[in-house]
Amino acid sequence: MRQVITTTTCDICGKGSAQTVQLVRDREADLCEEHNKQFEAALAPFFDVSRKSDGARPRTSYRSFAKRTAPAPTQVPASQSTIRAWAQSNGLAVSDRGRIPQHIVSKYQAAHS
Ligand SMILES: [Zn+2]
Repeated sequence: MRQVITTTTCDICGKGSAQTVQLVRDREADLCEEHNKQFEAALAPFFDVSRKSDGARPRTSYRSFAKRTAPAPTQVPASQSTIRAWAQSNGLAVSDRGRIPQHIVSKYQAAHS
């Protein structure tokens, strides 16, 4: 039995059991305890004078998502083998390999629309 164990390693020193730490805004890094502390220590002077942001973000309108209608169902193109089988069962000359001639594809489409 093969077991895959995932460990998070520190991005700085490569030690295991690191944690993903949010650095600033959209930046994050995996840091071991030591480097996590180092990061916090480096941040401390700024943290001390910081205030908790209200976390307000530009609102995304969910209506704009809802408005988006599902794309019109497109006709699934028949596979070459399907068309070939159809052509052969209808007595149309079609080779077993290679591209199916366009006039046969057209006939198939005409018969299936
Ligand atoms: Zn580290």
